Amino acid sequence: MAPAPDFGLFIEGKWVTPPNATRFTTSNPANGQVLASFVAATPREVDAAVRAAETAFPKWRSLPAPQRGEVLLRASALFRERKERIARVVTQEMGKVIAEGRGDVQEAIDFLEYMAGEGRRMFGETVPSELRSKFCLTVRQPKGVVACITPWNFPTAIPNWKIAAALVCGNTVVFKPASSTSLCAVEVVKVYEDAGLPPGVLNLVTGAGSAVGNALIDDPRVRAVSFTGGVETGRGVYLRGAQSLKAVHLELGGKNPMIVLDDANLPLALDGLLFGAFGTSGQRCTATSRLILHEKVYDTFLGMLDRAVAKLKVGDPLDPSTDIGPVASADQEKKILRYIEVGKAEAKLRTGGEKLTGGAYDAGFFIAPTVFETRHGTRISKEEIFGPVLSVIRVRDYDEAVRVANDVDYGLSSSIYTSDVNLAFRAMQDLECGITYVNAPTIGAEVQLPFGGIKSTGTGGREAGSVAIEEFTEIKTVFVDFSNRLQKAQIDAPVGE
Ligand code: NAD
Repeated sequence: MAPAPDFGLFIEGKWVTPPNATRFTTSNPANGQVLASFVAATPREVDAAVRAAETAFPKWRSLPAPQRGEVLLRASALFRERKERIARVVTQEMGKVIAEGRGDVQEAIDFLEYMAGEGRRMFGETVPSELRSKFCLTVRQPKGVVACITPWNFPTAIPNWKIAAALVCGNTVVFKPASSTSLCAVEVVKVYEDAGLPPGVLNLVTGAGSAVGNALIDDPRVRAVSFTGGVETGRGVYLRGAQSLKAVHLELGGKNPMIVLDDANLPLALDGLLFGAFGTSGQRCTATSRLILHEKVYDTFLGMLDRAVAKLKVGDPLDPSTDIGPVASADQEKKILRYIEVGKAEAKLRTGGEKLTGGAYDAGFFIAPTVFETRHGTRISKEEIFGPVLSVIRVRDYDEAVRVANDVDYGLSSSIYTSDVNLAFRAMQDLECGITYVNAPTIGAEVQLPFGGIKSTGTGGREAGSVAIEEFTEIKTVFVDFSNRLQKAQIDAPVGE
């Protein structure tokens, strides 16, 4: 086996390794194989990365937005060329099955293409003036140096959601990925490098959230922080960013419900549930972690679920016949198993509930798909577990289903299966969250639509879709007076007098 490669930081267009750098490695959660080693950056390297981004900013912002979009198009073409190889890196470093590894890269490609077009839109407004011979408009301007801090669960898609949107708007970026998926981050940055992005426009600093993240957030030259991760980390980032009055955008966790009513197409709901709850081993922010099930179909549907779960194949994520790969890391495994113990104490375990052992399982972090029957209000029914663990809650009717669905701290995604069009439309209004699916599972974002949530899921903005640029631009309001005299708003000829 070839020795694991060493990577440096990417600062001012060069891969650099500081003298006496401390290094860390990433490994394959399916078999423990070490994949590569990376520099644990210190505040000194963060300073250099921010300086590079600050220096590159004036030139990059002055490039016309359509030309910035051209760089994104070149990057998307390179991702296409490298899709299979990078998808395998995603699967090997993070553990999602290979079809989902390809999906991760495809989402990056889709978003780059979508955002490249934004370079030719970036709409402002023209608005009438109350005065004669005066023209009023808004234009979008970049914020400056932006820090993009990302989690490990979509290690190519989420960085691209942030980086591509930030760049097309004219910002420069310091990118800090989750440590456990640093190799995916290197692949992402190499694509931008090869697409011809000028030096300093995108910089990569790998390393611990505490050291690198804090230094980035504290730096007064960083004007905005775009963060995706857990609620507690996000809260810390928000508080820290407030010290220097930074714009902080947070995309955090979820406890996403799927409501299955008594008139639902049950086989369809079952397919959606299996994908929503156990896809990516339940490690999606939009994963279906609660099944809110109508009492009239409760026993029938759970019987169907038991039989389907028993057929799921857990194993090598590179094997195309595998349904569920390992969870992403030893830490993830520990946390999920802890929640399973909590579940055993407060709810009824229906299936799974254990770490898989024996043979190839012993070298990785494999957890059996797990289903608990519980009442609403238990910890497993309200806290984000982020693993292949589903809580099933029995309800009497639509109203109780919605009450239960809404009674959690999070508000990211939701889904309802019903054939009653009136109830489907009511659910669109009643479910308190950023995303509602009708007759589809809670997962399945598309890049041309806004993505994000309410309550503890975030600060309220949205990524993706045409609104993605809100996070990365400031609105400048412009008044052009061509009357050749001083005109006074609100004072000269007030409207209605
Ligand atoms: P995490 O909060 O542990 O880490 C996220 C990132 O923050 C990592 O890069 C980490 O190194 C960094 N970090 C850690 N401490 C920091 C600090 N003090 N300052 C700055 N940065 C710091 O989250 P994770 O385990 O990587 O990801 C899982 C979480 O992400 C789940 O809660 C999941 O729901 C959430 N998530 C949300 C979305 C969304 O769009 N809403 C998408 C994917 C994942």
